[in-house]
Amino acid sequence: MASILEERKVLNNGVEMPMMGFGTWQMTNESAAVAVRQAIEAGYRLIDTAAFYNVEEGVGQGIRDSGIPREELFVTTKVWPTMIYQDRVEEALEGSLKRLGLDYVDMCLLHWPVNYVEGWKKMEQLYKAGRVRAIGVSNMRVKQLMTLMDNTEIIPAFIQIECNPLVSQYEIRALCEYKGIAVGGWQSLGSGAQGGVLNNEIIMAIAEKHGKSTAQVALRWAYQNGVITVPKTVTPARMAQNADIMDFALTPEDMAQIGSLPQLPRYDTEIADVPVRIMEQVKRGVCFAEKGYAGNLTVDFYKDK
Ligand code: NDP
Repeated sequence: MASILEERKVLNNGVEMPMMGFGTWQMTNESAAVAVRQAIEAGYRLIDTAAFYNVEEGVGQGIRDSGIPREELFVTTKVWPTMIYQDRVEEALEGSLKRLGLDYVDMCLLHWPVNYVEGWKKMEQLYKAGRVRAIGVSNMRVKQLMTLMDNTEIIPAFIQIECNPLVSQYEIRALCEYKGIAVGGWQSLGSGAQGGVLNNEIIMAIAEKHGKSTAQVALRWAYQNGVITVPKTVTPARMAQNADIMDFALTPEDMAQIGSLPQLPRYDTEIADVPVRIMEQVKRGVCFAEKGYAGNLTVDFYKDK
């Protein structure tokens, strides 16, 4: 039985992407260097990072320390909105490559849908110039993805969205399936203990029935929905546990039960004022932002909510 870490999804441009990878948000450079090396040693081949996480140096160190040839890995990074807004997408990619110590990334995403039509046109240029193997977006809603596709040339190969049994995002997943866009989930575990997924009673009962953990049920649910996952953990035992999901299957009844769970609000504009947070980042100069864009950024962010 193949491990999920060996499973690949063929993207709409022919590039193969692992079905499960390793997330690096909320680490330090030091912990990322150790965790990424450990994850690669455990068999993970997809590493998901972003300029915004401020861990790219650590991720690059972990990759080098693992000793695995670069071409066996699939590295994703993301361009932060302030760089999109300032028409510095290429510079953002170059900065990420420098911090990672890599010649290329396999996937580059627009991190949040801000000024995204113009931003995507820049991504198209980078893709056509062979600077990145695949390009995608993140955190878009249906209308935003439709607007993007109506006004640009290349259909994204991939979209990463918040996705777990309590934020299942069925509509955008259906659109992506129709359009041939691979879907990746973030917070597949609901971000751990406090998120409600791992201690949901229905998920707990299903987990007990299969002799698996709730984390494994959440990751198996994503897999059975064709969603690529990047669970984050700094705990080696959990790296192994999260990948151990191919020795059981959720039944149609399990899937229906999970599918009928009450849904939580999406993280972005529904429960966390992301535009305000981005403005704070802009003001603090984080992610190479300059002052003066905050107002526009907010307007643009809410425009097609
Ligand atoms: P996850 O849903 O992956 O949850 C991570 C948390 O769950 C950590 O606290 C971890 O703890 C804990 N955990 C991991 N495995 C287990 C387990 N088997 N049992 C119990 N607890 C467990 O949340 P993330 O927010 O990190 O999302 C995953 C990745 O998605 C990110 O790291 C990032 O790469 C990406 N992402 C992308 C976003 C975007 O905007 N595109 C936004 C947010 C995330 P511990 O580490 O202590 O083991």
